[in-house]
Amino acid sequence: MPNEISRRTLIELGLAGASVAVAGAAIAKPGPSAEPQDRPALPDNDKIGFAVVGLGKLALGQIIPGLKTAKSAKLVAVVSGDPVKAKRIAAENGLPADAIYNYTDYDRMAKDPRIQVVYIVLPNAMHAEYTIRALKAGKHVLCEKPMATSVADGEAMIAAAKAADRKLMIAYRCHYEPLNLVAMRRLRSGSLGKPRIVTTDMGRQSTLSDPSDAWRLDMKMSGGGALADMGVYGINAARYLLNEEPIEVRAWAKTDRTDPRFRTVEDVVSWQFRFPSGTIANGTTSFSCAGTMAYQVFCENGRLVADPGCFYGGNKLSLIGVPAAQGAPKITEIDQFEREMDWMADVVRGKVPLVTPGEEGLQDVRLMTAILESVAKGGATVKTGWAYKRAHDPAAVVDLPHPA
Ligand code: NAD
Repeated sequence: MPNEISRRTLIELGLAGASVAVAGAAIAKPGPSAEPQDRPALPDNDKIGFAVVGLGKLALGQIIPGLKTAKSAKLVAVVSGDPVKAKRIAAENGLPADAIYNYTDYDRMAKDPRIQVVYIVLPNAMHAEYTIRALKAGKHVLCEKPMATSVADGEAMIAAAKAADRKLMIAYRCHYEPLNLVAMRRLRSGSLGKPRIVTTDMGRQSTLSDPSDAWRLDMKMSGGGALADMGVYGINAARYLLNEEPIEVRAWAKTDRTDPRFRTVEDVVSWQFRFPSGTIANGTTSFSCAGTMAYQVFCENGRLVADPGCFYGGNKLSLIGVPAAQGAPKITEIDQFEREMDWMADVVRGKVPLVTPGEEGLQDVRLMTAILESVAKGGATVKTGWAYKRAHDPAAVVDLPHPA
C-alpha cells in the first residue's frame, strides 16, 4: 500500500479508523518489523526480568511482544487492576500465578528477586507514584513518556532513584531507533552545514469514546492533551537533533472549547524555541488533525526531512539539496520497543550508558510547562533559567543495530 501508513501501524498509534494517509510515507515493512536484530540473545537465565505495569494498548500491543524477542530482557511479571485480564496475559506468557500483581500488593515486589526492572506503562499522572514505589522496592525503573505531569513529580522521581541507588530511564524509543540516530549523525557530521531552523509536527485525531484517549483528554491525568502525548516527541526531537537546549520559549494555542474533547486540554499548540547557537525550532501539535509525526531540519547547505520520523514503523528519511549527501539513507527497520528494553537491560548489566535518564524526561516536562505558561501569557517569552545538559549524545554512544 504505497504512500499510505499500514493499518497495523495506525492501530498501534491509536489512529485506526481515523482514515489517516500520510503522503510520502512509503512502507518498507509494516509496524515493528520481525527483522532479527543482529546480536545473539542471552541465555534466558541471564536476561534481566521486567515487570510490566498497566496492561493497556502500548503494553499489550508493543511492550509484551517486544519482550518476547528481546535479547537481554524478558517478561517476569505483570501488574494490573483487572484480575481477569492479568490472568489471561500471564497465561499467554507462561507466567506463574504469583507473578501477577495488582496496585494494592504492588510493594510485594520488594521480595521478588525475579523482577529487576519495573516498566511503568500507566496514564501519565500515575507515573510518579508507581515509579517511586518501585524504586523504594529496590527495583530499576523504565518509565513511559512523558515522565510526569509536573516538574515537582519529575524531581521527586529523580530524587527517589538517587536515594534508592537504582536506575531510572525514560522510554524515549527514538533515541535508540536507527532513522533518528542516522539523522543525528548526519547533522553532527556537518555535511549539511549548520542547522538554522527545525520544524516538528506531531499530531493525530483523538476520540473521547476510546478509554485510552479519554484520560489523554483530561488535563489532570495527561498533563497536557496533545502536547503531552504527541508534542513531547517534537520537543524532544528538536533537542536531540540539535544536541543543545532551548534558552527561550514562546507558544500559542487554538482550542475550540465547544468541542467536548477539549474541555480541559488545549488542542492546537504551536511553539518556538530559541537555541544558544541561534537556531530556531518551530513545533506544532494537535489532537484534531490527521496523524503525523514529522520533522525537518533546514541547514546551511541542505535539508533533512523525516516524514514520518517517529512512527513505530514505516519512517522515511530524506536528505535534500546537497549532492554528496542527497538521497534516502538505507535504514533497516527494527522493533523499537525491543531495542529500548534491551538497552535498559544492558544499562542494568553495566554494559551501556544511561542515555535517557530521568533528567532527560524532566527537561521535556519543564519545556512543556514553559510552553503552557507562554500560552497562558498570550505568547510571552519564557526564559529557561534552569541548567540542563544531556549526559550522553545518543549519536555518539548508541550504536546502529544495522549499518546505515
Ligand atoms: P492505555 O490507556 O491504553 O493504558 C493504560 C493502562 O493503565 C490501562 O490498562 C488502564 O486500565 C490502566 N489504568 C490504571 N489505572 C488507571 C486509571 N486511573 N485511569 C486510566 N487507566 C488506568 O494507555 P497507553 O496508550 O497504553 O499509554 C500508557 C503510557 O504509555 C502513557 O504514558 C503514554 O504516554 C505512553 N505511550 C508511549 C508510547 C511510545 O511510543 N513510547 C506510545 C503509546 C503510549
